[in-house]
Amino acid sequence: MRELSVYYCRKCGYYAYYHLPKNAVCPRCRISMTLLNIRYQDFMNLDLEERDRLIACRIIESSPTLVHRICRPEELYNQRQLIGQLVEEVSRLSEENRELNHTVDWMHKTIWEQLHRTQELERALEQQKNA
Ligand SMILES: [Zn+2]
Repeated sequence: MRELSVYYCRKCGYYAYYHLPKNAVCPRCRISMTLLNIRYQDFMNLDLEERDRLIACRIIESSPTLVHRICRPEELYNQRQLIGQLVEEVSRLSEENRELNHTVDWMHKTIWEQLHRTQELERALEQQKNA
């Protein structure tokens, strides 16, 4: 029998033990989980807090650069810079959100117009049949 391995979900932090990588799918996020590079027995010897910390570190390591920057220890002493970066990120996301909403509005409008045209065509066909 193969030894169990520890896998974690990079999205929600859920972890579990599997024999086969193909079974390592997060039940919440439905994405394949990442292998944690630690022996099963060593992981079992950690307490819950140590396991949380280990997985949190892995998630941060593989995350986009902003999270990386924010979580770097030296940055924690520089709160002003951190706040500046966060404010910048929030405004970037708001802008992105605004653009996405605009696209959705535009799609709505296009779909309505299309629907309208289809109805007109149907009416025209109906009239021709009755003529
Ligand atoms: Zn998950």
